[in-house]
Formats: sequence, C-alpha cells, structure tokens
Amino acid sequence: SDRVVIVGAGQGGLQVAASLRQEGFAGPVTLLGDEPGLPYQRPPLSKAYMKDGDESRLALKPASFFETAGIDYRPGIIVAGIDRPAGEVVLDNGERLGFDHLVLATGARNLRPPLPGIDLPGVHELRGLADAARLRAMAEGVRRAAVIGGGFIGLEFAAVAAARGIHVTVIEAADRLMSRAVTPPISQRFLDFHRAAGVDVRLGALGTAVLGGRAAEGVALADGQEVAADLVLLAVGVRPNMELAAEAGLAVANGIVVDGHLRTSDPRIFAIGDCANFPLGGIATRLESVQAAVDHARHVARTITGAGQPPYDALPWFWSDQGPLKLQIAGLSTGWDDTHVLTDATGAVDTVLAFRDERLIAVEAVNQAGRHMAARKLLAGAPVMWDRLQGLDWDLRAALA
Ligand code: FAD
Repeated sequence: SDRVVIVGAGQGGLQVAASLRQEGFAGPVTLLGDEPGLPYQRPPLSKAYMKDGDESRLALKPASFFETAGIDYRPGIIVAGIDRPAGEVVLDNGERLGFDHLVLATGARNLRPPLPGIDLPGVHELRGLADAARLRAMAEGVRRAAVIGGGFIGLEFAAVAAARGIHVTVIEAADRLMSRAVTPPISQRFLDFHRAAGVDVRLGALGTAVLGGRAAEGVALADGQEVAADLVLLAVGVRPNMELAAEAGLAVANGIVVDGHLRTSDPRIFAIGDCANFPLGGIATRLESVQAAVDHARHVARTITGAGQPPYDALPWFWSDQGPLKLQIAGLSTGWDDTHVLTDATGAVDTVLAFRDERLIAVEAVNQAGRHMAARKLLAGAPVMWDRLQGLDWDLRAALA
C-alpha cells in the first residue's frame, strides 16, 4: 500500500499522521523530525511555559500514541534531500526512505538580522523548546531585558518578564505594535497595556547593534540612543524552511508554493503550515498559526486517503496572550479599508471589526471569547456587510441568528 513520509514533526506534521489514521489510512506512515523528544506545541513556550517552566504539558501526544496508531516516529533526524526521480528522501545519515506521498511540514526559522554583536552570549531567540528553556534559565538572573521586535512573540515574552520584575524595553521599527497582523486600535490597546505594566516600548526605533564585550550589555539604536540590557531577545519574524523543496526543483516564493489542495508542482509532494505559500480566496498566503498547520494537515490527510473535497478554504484564526489580555483574531485584516471599534465598560477597546469594500473581513477581540467564536462562525459563512451589522447594533451573535 501507499507509503507516506512526513518531514517535520511539529504541529502540522504530527497532525497529518494523526489525521491519516483518523481517516482510516492503513499504509505505513513515517514522521521525521530534527528535534529531540515528542512533538510539542510552541504557543505555550512564550506564555505558560515561560512563566512556570512546566514541560509536561507541551507534548501534542503521549509516546503511547505512536505505537497504538502504528506511526513510525523518528526524532533527531534531519532530512537532507529529496530524490524525486527515485521517490525517496535522503536522511543526514545517508539512509533513504521511499515514499508515494511526501508531506513537507518544515516550519520556519527565526530571522537573524545581520547586526554586529548578534552572536554574543545573552542574545536569545525563541522558536523551539531548547530556545525557551535557555531563555527561561537566563531570565532568572537578569534585571534588564531588551526585546528587538514588537510582534506577538516579543510582546508575550515582555509581558511575562515584566510581571517577574525584569525591566523590559521593546524596540519596534514600525510606528505601532504587531503592525503586520492587527489594526491600529488593537496596537494602541496593547501599547497602553505594556506601558502601564512598566515595559519601555520604543516605537519607530531601529536596533543597529548588540553592545557588549564578552556578553550582551545592551542594544544600540539608529538614533544614537543605547538601551542597557543583560538579555536580548531577537523577535523580528521568521523565514519559511523551504530549502529542501527548492533544491528538489519545486517552486518556492515566500514559502513552498502549493495549489488549492496544498500540492506542490510535484503531485506526490505536499507542503503545509508555516512553510507553505497557499492560495486563500485567490490570494497567495503564508500563515504562521496553529490553525493553518492543523487545518492544512487535515486537508492533506483527506486528499491522500482519496476523499474528494473542495479546495482548502478554512477561515484563519489566531490568538496571543499578553499578561491578562487574550487577543483572538478571526479572519485576516490584511487590506482593510474601514474599521468599527467597540469598547468595554471602562472605555478600553475590546473589539475591532475590520471591513474591506463594506464587507466584514476580520474581527479582533480582547478578552471577548464569545464574540470571537461568533465571529468565526459568521466569517465562515455568507458575506456580512457593514449596514447589516450597524442595523444590529454591531451584535455579532444577533447576526448569526
Ligand atoms: P513547526 O511546528 O515549527 O514544525 C516544524 C518542524 O520541522 C520543526 O520541528 C523543525 O525543526 C522541523 N524540521 C525543519 N526542517 C527539517 C528537516 N530538514 N528535517 C527534519 N525536520 C525538520 N500560533 C498560534 O496560532 N497561536 C499562538 O499563540 C502562537 N504562539 C507561538 C509562540 C511561539 C514562541 C512560537 C515559536 C510560535 C507560536 N505560534 C503560535 C506559531 C505556531 O506554533 C506555528 O505556526 C506552528 O507550530 C506551525 O506548525 P508547522 O508544523 O508548520 O511548523
């Protein structure tokens, strides 16, 4: 029977293996991952794990799962190449594994801007469990931390560190926080929160070098200022891991290019999750989210088992926890041209409805779980227009009825 090989044992790779069995696929499934241990979830690394250091809640499945489900999981294995003519992957130890279907779920790696001093001890990044464990241990003893990059991961770390009494400076080049992913009112709500929590947020600030002799002592900014810090976290975004695909002659462009069924230009080979550039509503999209990795995986598992299905079109959703604020996003606000803002009893922004051409495209909610769930249902259905929501006094649940 058909052999499935999965490269990358993170959120997406593990889900392909699990979904194949759920769909009744009976052939051999091999899951190859370069990290040690059991496949684990990354979101807690900058949230609960950063706070409590409890590794026991990170694993996506217990060890017994792989045996019961008959999945050949091999940790600590780097896939070095794809031999398409032979239909084999080549492992770093020279071993070859034949496949009938190959799923690339290689994720992304952190961007490392070419700053002087970036390799000094005390400069950290946060992608895997090993990074998180190092960062946590180091943060025990520091008084001042600088975070380069005011995106989700940098801000989640900042919130945990500030709550622990560390003096944190966030250095963000754009004029607002999380600018690639959220609308301005949400950026402002989180800016207010972090500043009130004692975080020194510098907007429009470009880090140009890590200062220090034998270890990091701070960050130099383009305007000549210096931020003192014994710990520096680089959190300026990621690059998709697409070299395997490129070297095998598959199309890549900000990720491994796939069609509406997550297929590369080679029909035997799929790409999913952070490493995939896929069409969503006709627009080339690459998402870094648990939702995309999991929903891609389920789609590919159904395709491999032969289930006919329409092209992938799952609604994107995302969350980020920063201190007591839980941000939940339904849809993508990219290309919004108008917003409607709702506030809570204290006057703080707690929901932003984003529109394009009068059509609702995304809902950003802060500590409004019910509204987020309503938004997900609403956005997955027929178009919802500005006038209609206004007529319902912006009540998303009423719009569902
Ligand atoms: P990954 O889970 O990254 O797995 C890819 C795996 O492939 C890695 O283990 C990698 O080492 C391995 N690999 C790569 N190349 C090879 C090779 N050649 N051979 C073998 N193995 C290889 N998303 C949310 O939706 N909400 C959140 O709150 C959130 N918080 C996050 C916090 C942090 C700190 C991080 C790092 C990410 C967070 N994310 C969050 C993003 C989410 O974790 C990712 O989008 C998701 O893990 C993507 O799944 P994936 O399978 O594509 O990649």
